Amino acid sequence: MSADGSLDLLDEVRVEASTCTRCRLAERRTQVVFGVGDPKADLMFVGEGPGRDEDLAGEPFVGRSGRLLDRLMAEELGIERSACYIANVVKCRPPDNRDPRPDEIEACWPYLEQQVELISPRVVVTLGNFAARQLLQTTQGIRTLRGKSYPFRTGHLVPTYHPAAALRGGGMVLAEMRADLVRAKRLLRGPR
Ligand code: URA
Repeated sequence: MSADGSLDLLDEVRVEASTCTRCRLAERRTQVVFGVGDPKADLMFVGEGPGRDEDLAGEPFVGRSGRLLDRLMAEELGIERSACYIANVVKCRPPDNRDPRPDEIEACWPYLEQQVELISPRVVVTLGNFAARQLLQTTQGIRTLRGKSYPFRTGHLVPTYHPAAALRGGGMVLAEMRADLVRAKRLLRGPR
C-alpha cells in the first residue's frame, strides 16, 4: 500500500494476476506465485516457474533450488532474499514439473514485463533457459548465453544456470553460477 492507502501499481498487477485464467495452468494450480521481495530492489532474479513447494507456499524458490539460491546470494552477493526481488516466467505451476509451453509463457509475459518495468532493477539475473530466452528474446541456450552480461532496458542482464542444474550437475555448474553472481555484483556497483 502507498501512503494514501491506495494499492501501488505492482500490487495492482499482483491482484489482477491472482485470479488469472489466461492459460491452462490456472486449472491445476493451488495459487498464483506472483513474486516476492523488495519492489524497489536493484537486483531481480527471474526463474522458470513454480514447482510443488512454491505452488503450496505461494512464494518463488522455497524448495531445494530456492535453498541453494539463498545460499549463493548470501555467499556471493552478501544479501538475503528480502533485499532483491524474485519472480518467474510463468506464475502458475506446470503440472508434473514439465516445462512451460510457449503459449503459457506468452500468456504470462505481460505480468513479468510489468514487474520488470515497475521494479526497474539495475541488474536482472535470469536462472535457466526459459528466463534468459524470454527476456533476451533469443533461442540460444544458457551454455552459450552465460559468461557475460547484456544491456537490458535501463540496466544489465546476467544469464546463469537454473539452481536445479547445479543440484544435478555438480561442481562445474555451481562454480560457473558463482562466477555469474560475482559479475552481477560488479554491475550492481557500477554505472547503469
Ligand atoms: N524453479 C523455478 O524456476 N522457480 C521457482 O520458483 C522454483 C523452482
